[in-house]
Amino acid sequence: MSSHIMPTYGRLAVTFERGEGAWLWDDQGKRYLDALSGIAVCNLGHAHPAVHQALCEQSGKLVHTSNIYRIALQEQLANRLIEKSGMDNVFFSNSGAEANEAAIKLARKYGHGLGVENPAIIVMEKSFHGRTLATLSATGNPKVQQGFGPLVEGFIRVPYNDIGAVEAAISGHGNIVAILAEPIQGEGGVNIPAADYLNQLRSLCDQHNLLLMLDEIQTGIGRTGKFFAYQHNGILPDVCTVAKALGNGVPIGACLARGKAAEVLTAGTHGSTFGGNPLACSAALAVLATLDADGLLAAAASKGAAICAGFTGHLQGNPHIVDIRHKGMMIGIELDTPCTGLVGQALEAGLLINVTYEKNIRLLPPLIMDELQIQQLVGTLSSLISAFTAQL
Ligand SMILES: *Cc1c(COP(=O)(O)O)cnc(C)c1O
Repeated sequence: MSSHIMPTYGRLAVTFERGEGAWLWDDQGKRYLDALSGIAVCNLGHAHPAVHQALCEQSGKLVHTSNIYRIALQEQLANRLIEKSGMDNVFFSNSGAEANEAAIKLARKYGHGLGVENPAIIVMEKSFHGRTLATLSATGNPKVQQGFGPLVEGFIRVPYNDIGAVEAAISGHGNIVAILAEPIQGEGGVNIPAADYLNQLRSLCDQHNLLLMLDEIQTGIGRTGKFFAYQHNGILPDVCTVAKALGNGVPIGACLARGKAAEVLTAGTHGSTFGGNPLACSAALAVLATLDADGLLAAAASKGAAICAGFTGHLQGNPHIVDIRHKGMMIGIELDTPCTGLVGQALEAGLLINVTYEKNIRLLPPLIMDELQIQQLVGTLSSLISAFTAQL
């Protein structure tokens, strides 16, 4: 079949037609168990009735006005996000990259306000922050940057989960104004840092008057068992970005700010035509209401633990398993060998998974996944992994 789509993605040969909860059906009628959720987006599963109803009702009333007017649903959604996060205010975007663009602009303007001429932001190796020019420049993956120079300047890169490297970067450069990091690196291979890493970043930022900016685009909205991953550490960032699961598939992102950071972006300094429009906000409000009503944060914590325990049991003694790790429903199985071939084999077996950084199987199941589906996920994937490693 010929396609006029720009070939920016190496796509798997499957076309889905409909979904329900953790199930998807392709155009041949074959059923798949979704353990990826469109990459941490459909946390409530597919065709969730609350989101469906919100979209139907709102699209019959008002889809879009403009941010030159007040938008009641946007104000409500901001209030809900503030309650849940402990932050002070919100800028709405349409995607994760745009939320991070807002954060990067905010950090630079904060720096200029302090009289720093060339403000720089500390970023991490193996990070992922998006595909726009500023966010790919912040991203710590040469493949994402290849061919797109000149990159946006003003990023100082250090190894992830290495506080000494951050301290050295701060004292080595007089122009650092912020630190941008993921609480757990998603694209980088489900890298979970030391338990007190975020606390230490928080102290360094307090000590040196820097903004702590956490990219919660993949970890946020309940994925790790708390609303935001930083809540495991009992800290608050100065800036926090969110997108993916906020609208359960309806494009919406947000940049949240607190304290001095909340006063930086003033009228006329930033904007978005679509950002926070009534339709997208109605979906996000339905998502937040459902997370609460259905107890899905606690569910993410216990189901993630059950899934990991399952894999640990099934794969015990397999010498090719380096590590099985998780925080809530963000799960990584690291092999000692490249295993991207498993994605196609799993698809064949009716299971959707992902592999990042070649050797890390990444699972991001919908938080609504039930007991039987969890057993099927663990059983099917464990067998595939065992068969795969037996051939090595
Ligand atoms: C997906 C992702 C982004 C980019 O979000 P888009 O909506 O694709 O622009 C940024 N940061 C992290 C951590 C992500 O997982």
